[in-house]
Amino acid sequence: MGALGAAVPLRLARSQARVTQPTEFVIRNAYVLTMDGALGDLPNADVHVRNGAIAAVGRALQAPGAEPIDGAGMLVLPGLVETHWHIWGTLLRSLSGDRQEHGYFPTSRTVGTFYTANDMYVAARLAAAEAVNSGITFVHDWCHNVRSPEFAESDLRALAEAGIRARFSYGSPTGASNDAPIDLADLARLQTRWKDYANGGLLTLGLAWRGAASEASLRDRTRAVELGLPISVHANNFKTSAGGIAALAKANLLDSRTQVIHAIWSTPEEIRALADSGSSVSVSPYTELRIGFGMPIVADFRAAGIEVGLSVDTPALSGNADMFAIMKAIQNIENGRATDEFKMTARRALELGTIGGARSMGLGDSIGSLVPGKRADLIMVNTRMVNLAVVSEPAHLLVEAAQPANVDTVVVDGKILKRGGALTQVDVGAIVDEAAAAYAALHKRSGWTWPESPG
Ligand SMILES: [Zn+2]
Repeated sequence: MGALGAAVPLRLARSQARVTQPTEFVIRNAYVLTMDGALGDLPNADVHVRNGAIAAVGRALQAPGAEPIDGAGMLVLPGLVETHWHIWGTLLRSLSGDRQEHGYFPTSRTVGTFYTANDMYVAARLAAAEAVNSGITFVHDWCHNVRSPEFAESDLRALAEAGIRARFSYGSPTGASNDAPIDLADLARLQTRWKDYANGGLLTLGLAWRGAASEASLRDRTRAVELGLPISVHANNFKTSAGGIAALAKANLLDSRTQVIHAIWSTPEEIRALADSGSSVSVSPYTELRIGFGMPIVADFRAAGIEVGLSVDTPALSGNADMFAIMKAIQNIENGRATDEFKMTARRALELGTIGGARSMGLGDSIGSLVPGKRADLIMVNTRMVNLAVVSEPAHLLVEAAQPANVDTVVVDGKILKRGGALTQVDVGAIVDEAAAAYAALHKRSGWTWPESPG
């Protein structure tokens, strides 16, 4: 499976399903958190899924012919929405060392130049499997290591095979000069042929933008706008990069197609500029804290009306892709910053991980809440586990106590990707073995090591 030959058409790869999938099923007698303002929470309720969409949500639904799924003891909620993850870096899990020369940036920029296209495939397979296992149904794959068209193809192929919903944002090769443009011809080719890559609409395309770093990077953005693509950019992450958002605003480079990542060192004027432009923000508390960028300021963004999504960023720093922990961190950071037990409720944190994240990616009309007509991206969390008993208030429980191991079932676009706590569509052992082999080979090729690490 790991060998990468000539590009395999994604439509063929999609048919490799290991488990027969019902086209219609109904989850019975669950506690349903719709995350929709009007529908609210529904105890002892059902969710009817048909042809990839949510057909109905309510009590004692009539669904003749639908395969029943027992929801007793389960919390059913929208799939968790992840908004910025350098998927290729998942092979570098916990590889950021303890000294300046072995920190995240030298590590990823050095080892990243030794990647092969197959490493992109293996990393994306691992990341997608971890995402689904953790209850994440959408990822934003911020790909800043496109070293050739085959690198992008390999990454996309893995995402399609995994069956996850994703935006693939096309970027430059890691370590490239800011004066070098990204492969704009390949970006345009992908956009033109996107239906061959979109996996039935699950995958979308965007630009992983370096910001206004050079004439070349500005041309990248102009071309992406011409192609009608959404744009994502890191800004104001380092204390020394404060003022970056002001510069973007001044150059008229903020708009509703743009997602700004981190945005930690933002002044009130910059927050206002983000809000006025309609830009969204993605924050990644575990990497922002681990690398010492600073504290995410979600409450400030939300108070200004900015859509905010939560993110993994890179397992090289975050270690894992636990969105429950990420929601919990954000709630705790906001309460800690405000010295106020009640600054951010668990419900608000859960919104950030579901409907808020979906809105921040421009997908609020199709995913992020359990509303009839939306695509069926949902998860079932099993409360009959030692870390979730007793069942008190479901939103608090999900944000404060739940872990990926509690995710019993994951559905993306009506397809069941995890059931009974096990991934249904992929061979986890093979994925882990392939990742280990790819990392060992990368380690050997790059010679990258640090004193604290064995081998
Ligand atoms: Zn990032």
